Amino acid sequence: MVAAMAEPLPLPALHASHAGTWLRDGIGGTRGVSKGEAVMAVADTPLLILNAPLVANRLGYPDLSGLDLLELFAFVHPARFAVPTPRGLAHALGIDEPDSDDGVPAFLQRAAGHLLATCESHDWAEREGAWSSLQSLVRLRWPWANILSPHIRKPERAEKWLFARLPEWEESPERGQPANVLIEEAEVEARLERLTGEGSEQREGQRRYSRDVGKVFAPRPRREVPHVLLAQAGTGIGKTLGYLAPASLWAERSGGTVWVSTYTKNLQRQLRQESGRAWPPVRRDGSRPVVVRKGRENYLCLLNLEDALQGGFSGRPAVLAHMLARWAAYSQDGDMIGGDLPGWLGSLFRKRGIAALTDQRGECVYAGCPHYRKCFIEHAARASAQADLVIANHALVMVNAARGRDHAQRPTRVVFDEGHHVFEAADSTFAAALTGAEAIELRHWIVGPEKSHKGRRRGLSARLADVASYDEAGGTAIEAAVEAAQALPADGWLQRLNEGVPAGPVEALLGAVRAVTYARDESGGQEAGYGIETEAAGLDGPVVELAGQAAGALAAIRSPLLRLGGRLEAILADPPDWLDAQGRARIEGARHSLAWRCDLLSAWEALLDRLGGPGDPEFVDWLAVDRNEAREFDIGLHRHWLDPMKPFARVVLEPAHGVMLTSATLKDGAEWDAAIARSGAAHIDSAPMLGEFESPFDYANRAEVLIVTDIRKGDIPALAGAYGRIIEACGGGVLGLFTAIRRMRAVHGRIADRLARSGLPLYAQHVDPIDTGTLVDIFRDDPAASLLGTDALRDGVDVPGHSLRCVVMEQVPWPRPTILHRARRAAGGGSAYDDRLIRARLAQAFGRLIRSRNDAGHFVVLSPAFPSRLLTAFPEGTPVLRLTLEEALQRLANSVFETASHADASAPPFEG
Ligand code: SF4
Repeated sequence: MVAAMAEPLPLPALHASHAGTWLRDGIGGTRGVSKGEAVMAVADTPLLILNAPLVANRLGYPDLSGLDLLELFAFVHPARFAVPTPRGLAHALGIDEPDSDDGVPAFLQRAAGHLLATCESHDWAEREGAWSSLQSLVRLRWPWANILSPHIRKPERAEKWLFARLPEWEESPERGQPANVLIEEAEVEARLERLTGEGSEQREGQRRYSRDVGKVFAPRPRREVPHVLLAQAGTGIGKTLGYLAPASLWAERSGGTVWVSTYTKNLQRQLRQESGRAWPPVRRDGSRPVVVRKGRENYLCLLNLEDALQGGFSGRPAVLAHMLARWAAYSQDGDMIGGDLPGWLGSLFRKRGIAALTDQRGECVYAGCPHYRKCFIEHAARASAQADLVIANHALVMVNAARGRDHAQRPTRVVFDEGHHVFEAADSTFAAALTGAEAIELRHWIVGPEKSHKGRRRGLSARLADVASYDEAGGTAIEAAVEAAQALPADGWLQRLNEGVPAGPVEALLGAVRAVTYARDESGGQEAGYGIETEAAGLDGPVVELAGQAAGALAAIRSPLLRLGGRLEAILADPPDWLDAQGRARIEGARHSLAWRCDLLSAWEALLDRLGGPGDPEFVDWLAVDRNEAREFDIGLHRHWLDPMKPFARVVLEPAHGVMLTSATLKDGAEWDAAIARSGAAHIDSAPMLGEFESPFDYANRAEVLIVTDIRKGDIPALAGAYGRIIEACGGGVLGLFTAIRRMRAVHGRIADRLARSGLPLYAQHVDPIDTGTLVDIFRDDPAASLLGTDALRDGVDVPGHSLRCVVMEQVPWPRPTILHRARRAAGGGSAYDDRLIRARLAQAFGRLIRSRNDAGHFVVLSPAFPSRLLTAFPEGTPVLRLTLEEALQRLANSVFETASHADASAPPFEG
């Protein structure tokens, strides 16, 4: 075993939690210190710490830095998972965890010693590349570099650098069209039995579900009329294997690809695991039958990384670039967001850098890139073309259906798991936003970045220089586009708007949008810090005139881009001698990017054209100023479809052959109407198949809904007191859901210290400097921890077992009365529309509680006036009690579900 008896690293160490601060000298004892003392010690000498931003947050000293164990871990074990807490690090290293806060500093010394000893051991799996990387980190004065140096020996042979080590993809033949095959119910059942394993419980619900899903894969009866199945599958049905059984059978028989689309990364991870029952990791020819595919903005762009390593980044971001280069060499797929890159790594570097290293701006030069054959994005795209199963997300499936590079790769058999989110995903995919931030992206793509930017980012003329020199008309079109794009906003636009000196027609329009939005604002500054918006109606003449000028400027950009697209097509149709396969791929890539920029410009023009005239009933248009903490960060015009399932039906459903939406919360009570409307099925020429499969869980005996009736709305001290006491009564394991960040912060601020002193750590989104995925990992890992959060946690949390035993909602989750919501509410039946939304949210939140047969717990709503008509949100048979907080606490403390309580009985009760 590696370094089992490693010596602790005798450097001073610091730990700060909500319960206090502890400092340990290099050799010697640990003592509690004040925050002030801790800050002095940190400023004096680099201390061993764990998660610098979190310690900084606890000490109220933002500039804190030191010898962060997480950075050392990321260097020694790149691409390895660890929960970024003392307990999580101990588990990842296989060493004893500290048993209390004051034991953490000594633990940090042990963990550091263990990691250093690992670097000396012969079986260190991630040795390759470490020495070379360390030499660069020494030059960058990374705090760990000199400590590590004596422990990492120089390799005998020079190490290959990252770009030489990564594997190359190979061209593979196009997959033919899938065969039309019929799969029999008996075969589906047999496959399901094989996947669930011999001797597993025979679940009739799952078998029926699987048989129904099989029908989606039957040959399509008519053009543009796919098979559509809506399947409401209660938690615990076993839906993943339920659909993977017919999907794997169909893929095997037909030679086609099935896409499974999810909304959360969690489910993607789970699917990746479960698909291992149906497919081997690699086929005989070395290709992979199952591929996870994300949007390109998720992946590391090697060209951007090379730039960063060669001087594009300096200081801390440069250190991050070297960490990422270490990770890239060991990563499974180069996915930086939700893949095997620890979510906390970006936060350690205050997020600077991660986004800049992905291909956010669509500036990929494809075959013109020296790393094209190793590119993670190209690897994923090519692998998915050969895959039996592609695991993707809703947005990517929609974008691929709308503008996939390769027609043959568009999804035709799709299972939308977490299907209740398809509406939201369609809503954002098919929306248009002409905002400063969007327009400046387009400007950079056409003109290139402004002078202050480092790096390789280049405009159209540099990217297509060879086309310009070969094809005169193409060259002229590029020049014209670059000139016309000067009308778009440039860097510093927000400041110019503030000073009242906008440059160009689009900035002038945005200035007017801002003025109108503020003029009509009625929030009285109460919501300062949050965005404000107003309808794009009743605008006066000068604003409409500015919109006309901006629309003209946009049209003037679009027309040379269209001409250029035509020239590129002509070159591809009649290729010159010098155009090799790589050049061809690059021009195809450029043509594709041009096409969707032209579509974007058309959508903006259409939005502006409507401003002076009557509104289009198909759309909801509005003006908005986006703000965060009172700081404006974007301004613009927005257009959403009133019913985004119309374009979804046209773009995704009609070209497909079989589509299924499945979820535990598709339906509203006994009603299917809303689910059908929100699936897009109403817009195609065939009725969807409907299936309902009840959860096998015993909600009547394993869960309770407690509606607390004596916490007045708006009484923050009482709300905080209630949260604190509920967490104590449960001994942690509470997920608290809020509809407003402001209230969540206020509650957290009042109770976190006190709970921490009772051994009940409390984490919160938007308070702790930790990404949401990592917060959930921490919550899952520590049964005493509780987590507060907002919408994203309502159904992004899958924490089976003891770690989650109580969900608390601060109030009924009413929808925010935005302009878009108002329009949909009016079209969707008024308050009945709101009720449906709320019931869906309650059902999703309740769904967090019981994830497996052995789970049990309480769902608490702190609302004196919880309308009875919302109760159908909960599974039938679940007991619902209206009671006071005291009574609720009694039930929680004496819970029939729990035997142990971690509450500190000697502590006085919370007063809020
Ligand atoms: S091919 Fe494109 S995305 Fe891939 S590394 Fe090169 S520039 Fe980046």
